Amino acid sequence: MPRPGITAMIPCYNEADCVERAYREIRSELVSYDDVELLFIDDGSTDGTLEAIKGFAAEDPLVKYISFARNFGLEAAFSAGFKYASKPWTVQFDADLQSPPHEMHRLVQKVLEGYDVVFAVREDRRDPWYRRLGTRGHQMIASRWLGIELPLGASVFRIVRTSVARKVVDSRLSTPYFIATAPLLGARYTTLPTSHRPRVDGQGKWNLRKLFGHALELFVGFSFRPLVWLNGLAAAMVTAGIVILGLASAGRLGPAEVAAASLVTGLVTLTLLAVAARYLVRVMRVQAIGVPRYQIREANIPIRADEALYGHETPYAIADIWENAS
Ligand code: UDP
Ligand code: MG
Repeated sequence: MPRPGITAMIPCYNEADCVERAYREIRSELVSYDDVELLFIDDGSTDGTLEAIKGFAAEDPLVKYISFARNFGLEAAFSAGFKYASKPWTVQFDADLQSPPHEMHRLVQKVLEGYDVVFAVREDRRDPWYRRLGTRGHQMIASRWLGIELPLGASVFRIVRTSVARKVVDSRLSTPYFIATAPLLGARYTTLPTSHRPRVDGQGKWNLRKLFGHALELFVGFSFRPLVWLNGLAAAMVTAGIVILGLASAGRLGPAEVAAASLVTGLVTLTLLAVAARYLVRVMRVQAIGVPRYQIREANIPIRADEALYGHETPYAIADIWENAS
């Protein structure tokens, strides 16, 4: 079996309690390959996560880091990670180590069978019931009802051919949704069951609002069926409305029935409007494709000037910038 070059990518948002352990565990698994790096993406942490990462980097030449100017979200973080990963394969980890780093070897073995992506599927997922139900529910709706192809149960623990990952995150089909974009581009992918453990330190970053928004991104970003269905429903309502009007004017329906019918029609109209608005947001996002999804405040690797908040074509640290400015 060849020993491939691997970037271990670790997005971190306020993970001061976990990041040291993550560094040690991931590093100890990673060094069994010859050509490796650890790439931390600090997604605008405010709790000392970046300072910890800089501490590792000062001692360890394998550690690279990028730090965002604010919290831009996990999708932005892994998009930057795939862009700046320098090895042919990238394994994405979670800083809380819910997906155990030693499982990476099985992902590597699997991908070398001839895939571009292997997604880990958490066996016996150790997250709250509403998270498990939410993932299963929205992925089922997406794949069964909306015809969206995606690896069911895929988590963000995955190994990806870095060049393909860059295509996926660059394509920005109006919404960053990695697991639905990879199949759309023709990436060869499969899934692999891996073990999972509860978060021990720090806080999970997902609340119900974020989860709901994420599901809607998938539905609206990759399918027009909700709009088609609602238009069908609207047409049915118009027909029903005409019939009700006819019946009312013939004196066969009272004011209470007519009022109830108009309430239902009103509700359908509002739903249709809300869904149409989501699609409008989608169009606006496509138009905003030239706008960068994140800005980098500091890093210890060269960063494209348009993605660096201070515009330098560096490697740079914030201290250098202040020195140069004064
Ligand atoms: N994360 C991030 N930016 C965010 C939210 C999360 O980089 O805005 C990182 C987080 O630090 C962790 C990973 O994404 O390394 C997964 O987050 P979390 O453990 O909260 O997700 P869950 O395991 O609950 O799905
Ligand atoms: Mg987690």
